[in-house]
Amino acid sequence: MSQPTIGALRGRVTGRVITPADDGYEEARRVYNAMIDRHPRAIVQCATAGDVAAAVDFARESELALAVRGGGHSVPGFGTVDDGVVADLSGMRAVTVDPAKRTARAQGGATWGDFNAATHEYGLATTGGIISTTGVAGLTLGGGIGYLARGFGLSCDNLVSAEIVTADGRALTASETQHPDLFWAIRGGGGNFGVATALEFRLHPLRDIYGGPMFFEVTDAAAVLRFFREFIADAPRAFGGFPAWQIAPPLPFIPEARHGETFLAFVACWAGPLEQGEAILKPLHDVAPVVAEHVGPMAYPALSSAFDALVPAGLQHYWKANFVRELSDAAIEQHLAFGPRVPTVNSTVHIYPINGACHEVASEATAFAYRDANFAPVIAGMWPDPSQNAANIAWVRDYYAATAPLSEEGGYINFMAGDDQDRIRANYRGNYARLVEVKRTYDPDNLFRVNQNIKP
Ligand SMILES: Cc1cc2nc3c(=O)[nH]c(=O)nc-3n(C[C@H](O)[C@H](O)[C@H](O)COP(=O)(O)OP(=O)(O)OC[C@H]3O[C@@H](n4cnc5c(N)ncnc54)[C@H](O)[C@@H]3O)c2cc1C
Repeated sequence: MSQPTIGALRGRVTGRVITPADDGYEEARRVYNAMIDRHPRAIVQCATAGDVAAAVDFARESELALAVRGGGHSVPGFGTVDDGVVADLSGMRAVTVDPAKRTARAQGGATWGDFNAATHEYGLATTGGIISTTGVAGLTLGGGIGYLARGFGLSCDNLVSAEIVTADGRALTASETQHPDLFWAIRGGGGNFGVATALEFRLHPLRDIYGGPMFFEVTDAAAVLRFFREFIADAPRAFGGFPAWQIAPPLPFIPEARHGETFLAFVACWAGPLEQGEAILKPLHDVAPVVAEHVGPMAYPALSSAFDALVPAGLQHYWKANFVRELSDAAIEQHLAFGPRVPTVNSTVHIYPINGACHEVASEATAFAYRDANFAPVIAGMWPDPSQNAANIAWVRDYYAATAPLSEEGGYINFMAGDDQDRIRANYRGNYARLVEVKRTYDPDNLFRVNQNIKP
């Protein structure tokens, strides 16, 4: 069979097809992590599900690697590929809300900013990421951890259905009743099974939260981390939030003399009745003197975009992660050893709690296997200057090496580095064999391999 030409691809696609010869190629090939510098042969800026199918068909028939891009946030740069095809869904960002059914349908390139803005109009929300520029699809297909996870479950637990273009170019609906094996696999299995052109979510009543960041002295970090460990074990589920190592940015609520110093921050989010917020946060507040804070009632989308400015597109990124069952004293000791050395204002370590509603779903009910983990820490190295790459990557690796023996073997695929491919079985534990089976059914030739890859 003769291979399709770029001209034929252009004939099928309503969006733009950009090759190295075209204007805009440099801009179009760029992803969020500036460390990634790949040169695709064609970037299909999809406008419709039909365009996505055309990109998939073209890659398969041309025997080229295919990368799928939604929000573009993949730290290992899975949204692009050398010498292959990129299906770029970042132009497909519509979000429609059905307030009566309490559902929202997001196109495959929507960001959490798009999503939260649309649902907030109706006083509704679901679990999403803590930065508004992250893609809904990439985050959800890998699991989806955020402020609301203890109350509403992971993002993937709120997925009702998804429209998926599979490796053979077909458009399928995956839900509990349609292609249930595919629906099982995409809730945690990432982009291994096809391209989600739309995702439908369950929503919950939530308009405003009570919360925001507090900054504690490094010398009080041990007390705050120990308090967090005890408190979060049975805190009301409407409480979300996490400790974070953070260099103080030059924000007006932080005393100017302390800008640039390192703190243990705590970002709190109380999604219950607003009038209870102050009392709920009081024990945390009382652990140690708070150096600076910006805590109070605010719209949920305001908290979900509050830290966007710390992580603009174009930084260098290197991240690593493990799940954690017990935040032991030994683990806290390692956090105290490495956290205060957080190298830049953009870098951070977050220790996300994933108990509460996340534990109500059985480990084998979705692909996301670690339902007994209580925490999902991420060591997120982010910095502007490429000349600092070696030193900053070393900080992430050393921190990881010190905490990994005190953690579970597997980690959250969305927080992992490109050099973590050999951990894929551990990430899925008992679900791995079933994921391979589903992969063999829907993508036997591994067209979708630019990801944390499940090999057929
Ligand atoms: C600044 C920042 C903040 C983050 N915060 C959080 C957080 O709060 N919670 C959390 O859980 N994770 C978070 N993450 C991790 C995030 O979930 C992953 O980086 C995720 O892959 C991003 O999805 P994306 O669509 O933006 O990325 P992309 O680079 O566009 O996509 C990454 C991969 O996801 C898959 N994918 C994306 N879109 C589709 C689609 N439409 N169909 C099929 N597959 C698709 C593909 O495999 C693709 O290679 C964060 C990442 C960053 C960089």
